[in-house]
Amino acid sequence: MERLLVIGAGTMGTGIAHVFAQHGFTVFVVDVAEEVLQRARATIERNLGRQVQKGVITEEERQAIMERLHMGTDLEAAAREAEFVLEAAPEHPELKRQLFERLDQLCAPEVIFATNTSSLSITWLAAATKRPDRFIGMHFFNPVPVMQLCEIVRGLATSEETYRFTEDLARRVGKTPVCVQDYPGFVSNRILMPMINEAIYCLMEGVASAEDIDTVMRLGMNHPMGPLALADLIGLDVCLAILEVLHRELGEDKYRPCPLLRKMVAAGRLGRKTGLGFYEYKS
Ligand code: NAD
Repeated sequence: MERLLVIGAGTMGTGIAHVFAQHGFTVFVVDVAEEVLQRARATIERNLGRQVQKGVITEEERQAIMERLHMGTDLEAAAREAEFVLEAAPEHPELKRQLFERLDQLCAPEVIFATNTSSLSITWLAAATKRPDRFIGMHFFNPVPVMQLCEIVRGLATSEETYRFTEDLARRVGKTPVCVQDYPGFVSNRILMPMINEAIYCLMEGVASAEDIDTVMRLGMNHPMGPLALADLIGLDVCLAILEVLHRELGEDKYRPCPLLRKMVAAGRLGRKTGLGFYEYKS
């Protein structure tokens, strides 16, 4: 497999396209807006430029990587070329289902579909297609060129062959794959989000200040970043949405989103992206 189709050129799609092109794949990137694609191309070019400066790659390699990237808004044309599809569109259930229904009609039957969803059921998305055996989760982490992990999520019908192929693909682009079954939040968010939620409860109950809560986790547990600073980085709206999925689907009180988190999101304090969350960010 040499030709990959990436759907969505946002934060994750850009990083995924970068990594696959750098590892020799021809990458088609499709988004709905031309300016998003231009921004994605500029971001990849800039990040590769930094790698050239550091001596990680040569200028010739940078040029060759950029030449392997093909960006456009024509899904049909790109789908005809694709040997593997990796979807990184927004986390909207119906949007993703419709995209996969369409891709199922456009792509050759042997093409494997992978989704980078953080919280939706792989089994449910796969059911929108006639190829649930060739459907799998490939959950990368932000920033993709830096983060080592890839959770490979097996849906109910994912075949052993699809799993083996995808696991090998993750290794081919330098990632460490971990096998995860299709349960809400997989492993990463099922552990991370309750920790963030508990930190917000500590803040709400006045156990300690935001800075002190983060210091405890950084210096006492050796986490590189405190949970509240991390929540600001992820986006408080994203954290709330994932906790709501965990709470609804697993049905346990321990996943109940903290009222302070709800209040912050209602106020539009979403973290770094709005300049204000548990901390203030000057642009
Ligand atoms: P994003 O909003 O930055 O990017 C999504 C892109 O998809 C946008 O550029 C948008 O224009 C495009 N898009 C919308 N509709 C489309 C369509 N019909 N066809 C093609 N493109 C379309 O989102 P993101 O943060 O990159 O997240 C993408 C996926 O990755 C989500 O499922 C998210 O849950 C998951 N994820 C995100 C992170 C993260 O830290 N941001 C980490 C792991 C997984």
